[in-house]
Amino acid sequence: MGHIIEPSSGRLGILTSHLSPHHQRSSMASEKEAALAAVPSDSPTIFDKIINKEIPSNVVYEDDKVLAFRDIAPQAPTHILIIPKVKDGLTGLSKAEERHCEILGQLLYTAKLVAKQEGLEDGFRVVINDGPKGCQSVYHIHVHLIGGRQMNWPPG
Ligand code: 5GP
Repeated sequence: MGHIIEPSSGRLGILTSHLSPHHQRSSMASEKEAALAAVPSDSPTIFDKIINKEIPSNVVYEDDKVLAFRDIAPQAPTHILIIPKVKDGLTGLSKAEERHCEILGQLLYTAKLVAKQEGLEDGFRVVINDGPKGCQSVYHIHVHLIGGRQMNWPPG
């Protein structure tokens, strides 16, 4: 059974949640640069350190399988990353095999739970970036839950 964690329980989210639109645009550009610089690999990533609490994060939901925490460079008022605690080869969605169906479902179901927790009744967006062209920068599968403003289409 998962448990909800108070949104204000960490510091990083508070520090980064008030970035100006200018800073948000800059971080979009640097996200792309980070994605193009990232080397796809099955090695441990920064997310393992977040799971192990070796580096701080603003956790909003946690259970035995899944961790959800605020993105350090939010692209919207609500921007949360949902990750499996055990990667099991799932560096990205393109590496999914049938055995991963359960954890993939849990990631999406957690997105729904956290969206409700965050009060995103009017809608939200779920994104999974994959590979360099998909702008993936961290090779530990993660779902972005983004909301709190009007989204646009097509995405960039
Ligand atoms: P990707 O670009 O791979 O789809 O998403 C990776 C996300 O991880 C980015 O949005 C980036 O801002 C976020 N991120 C990278 N390092 C950290 C970190 O140390 N803490 C947190 N909370 N988010 C991070």
